[in-house]
Amino acid sequence: MGVVTLTIDNKEVKAKEEMTVLEAAQSAGIDIPTLCHHEKLEPYTACRLCMVEVESRGRVKLDTACSSPVKENMVVRTKTEDIIKIRRTLLELMLSHAPDSRELQALVKEYGADKDRFEKEASFCIHCGLCVRYCAEVKKKSAVGFINSGVRREISFVPEIASKECWNCKECFELCPTEALQTAYLFTVAQISDSPSFELESEK
Ligand code: SF4
Repeated sequence: MGVVTLTIDNKEVKAKEEMTVLEAAQSAGIDIPTLCHHEKLEPYTACRLCMVEVESRGRVKLDTACSSPVKENMVVRTKTEDIIKIRRTLLELMLSHAPDSRELQALVKEYGADKDRFEKEASFCIHCGLCVRYCAEVKKKSAVGFINSGVRREISFVPEIASKECWNCKECFELCPTEALQTAYLFTVAQISDSPSFELESEK
């Protein structure tokens, strides 16, 4: 297992060659914001908040730190003016969907984003996919998934699976950066309770 040396925000960082830029930065105590990353899950690049400027072999480009592998002599800048502007806009857009999210509000404050820039279209879910991926990749249950597409895309529990698996698990709840997941779960529980053919695992 080799080690590479790269520079992140003018700091020399040594990282294992299989690490991503995000992991290398985190190991060096350099904060890069993200709302869809989880160390047990494959990179998803949904929130794009971890966008950084990467300079490698004479080429400069913007890339998501969670999916960029480290390279020898790579130079990474995590807080340029352009990157701050991109993060601000992303946060403003996400906040219009989940205005009550404390995690988002904290980032909005940190980046000086305008919380009223976009009209509120509260759907509560910011499509980070943490719940869906955690249930599929870690728990191997796929009790929750995305339905519909475009602006109507939302998460939904699969009643047949949720009735057996979720009551005693709920590990995804603490991953959700908004209130969308708990609301969707409560909706599913209400559906299940109304259906004579379903019985919650806890009630058996
Ligand atoms: S419900 Fe929460 S965890 Fe799941 S995709 Fe939406 S914001 Fe992410």
